[in-house]
Amino acid sequence: MSKSLLADANVRLEEALKYVSISEDAFSRLKYPKASLSVSIPIRMDDGSLKIFQGYRVRYDDTRGPGKGGVRYHPSVSIDEVQSLAFWMTFKCALLNLPFGGAKGGITVNPKELSKTELERLSRGYIEAIADFIGPDVDILAPDVYTNEMIMGWMMDQYSIIRRRFSPGVVTGKPLTMGGSQGRDTATATGAFHVINVMLKKFNLVKETTTVAVQGFGNAGAQMAELLFKAGYKVVAVSDSQGGIYAPQGLDIPSIRQYKKSHRTVTGVYCQDSVCNIVDHEVITNEQLLTLDVDVLIPAALEKQITEKNASEIQAKFIFEVANGPITSSADHILNGKGIHVFPDILVNAGGVTVSYLEWVQNRNGLYWSLTEVHEKLKVRMIEETEAVWSISQKFEVNMRTSAYIHALNRLNEAMSAKGTRDYYQNH
Ligand code: NAD
Repeated sequence: MSKSLLADANVRLEEALKYVSISEDAFSRLKYPKASLSVSIPIRMDDGSLKIFQGYRVRYDDTRGPGKGGVRYHPSVSIDEVQSLAFWMTFKCALLNLPFGGAKGGITVNPKELSKTELERLSRGYIEAIADFIGPDVDILAPDVYTNEMIMGWMMDQYSIIRRRFSPGVVTGKPLTMGGSQGRDTATATGAFHVINVMLKKFNLVKETTTVAVQGFGNAGAQMAELLFKAGYKVVAVSDSQGGIYAPQGLDIPSIRQYKKSHRTVTGVYCQDSVCNIVDHEVITNEQLLTLDVDVLIPAALEKQITEKNASEIQAKFIFEVANGPITSSADHILNGKGIHVFPDILVNAGGVTVSYLEWVQNRNGLYWSLTEVHEKLKVRMIEETEAVWSISQKFEVNMRTSAYIHALNRLNEAMSAKGTRDYYQNH
């Protein structure tokens, strides 16, 4: 039987524990989520029938502050997946030194099968079901796979209706006019872009000759591909759930994004104004994209994409995990053995939660920053923590994943120890 996602996530914790000494109390607490809620959400469908959806919210740890984490709508959402995602959020927030714990939520649903009105009823119904479990000082929601700005707006509105007061701080990733932050929509990709630039410079890679493949062409992946393209990197392959395209000479990412908006498919095109022409490209599968001979591979879709089954076929020299958990722990060993540098999700995709933090701060202060101010704050924090993870990896001669966990663990341990641990009580 394959290991549960949470058990797999815990393997990374155990690896980092070889290099840091944390209190026994902190270790015991980090092994299990603090609270997990499962709810049934009854929704009246457009045809008059009633359908029940399963929803979850997990607060993994809140020692450093209120829980923080996105909400995912996907047919494969399960309590195990949500717990693992909440575990990663705990480490991510600590790594970026944000005053948050880790949380996550999700609904088992294929949102593409719902009408817009059904989707709104489901989003509001989810908040009705979990309202007592969340709040601006308790647990704060955000977008994730197949949820977006508008859904965040509905959720904040529903929570405000229940509480009978405007409560923008309960959800981040909202539309600007509902208390959203400048730069939140592009934050994950922008944050990852800073990590990539810092790290590739250390390995003396030149943008113009660095080839990149991006798996996943949604919020994070498409923006990532475009930022890299505009900065001069050679993006040679992209894909979405239907499959991908490959062109060794490089793809025109803005054209592909424009075409996908109107045709809902990733195709090799070059567009001038509204006229798009098909250009030379090869149609590939997602599996083929992962094993292309490129310098940089960016998984930006879902978890468990690189496992012990395909890890030995990976040819990229650098992997930046924009998705959460795209590589299993057993694949990690194979990639390490091949000398592939892997930059972990809890660092690479932390730009999203960092700007979510800035949004929450703005909601509480009622003072809103310009895009330039938000970008600057994001850049400073991403570069600072990337450099910190890099120096730990040099000091202990460990890979960047272990180093990222060491850095986060130190902060979590400090916060837990501040409340008193076994050592403290036994010696007094
Ligand atoms: P999204 O829903 O906007 O996009 C997901 C993309 O993945 C879509 O293009 C979809 O077609 C594609 N996809 C789905 N199944 C696939 C498959 N089997 N193979 C290839 N592509 C597939 O989601 P997103 O917000 O871009 O999130 C993507 C990943 O990034 C997730 O792991 C998410 O947890 C992570 N992430 C997102 C954010 C954020 O702010 N959006 C922040 C941190 C982490």
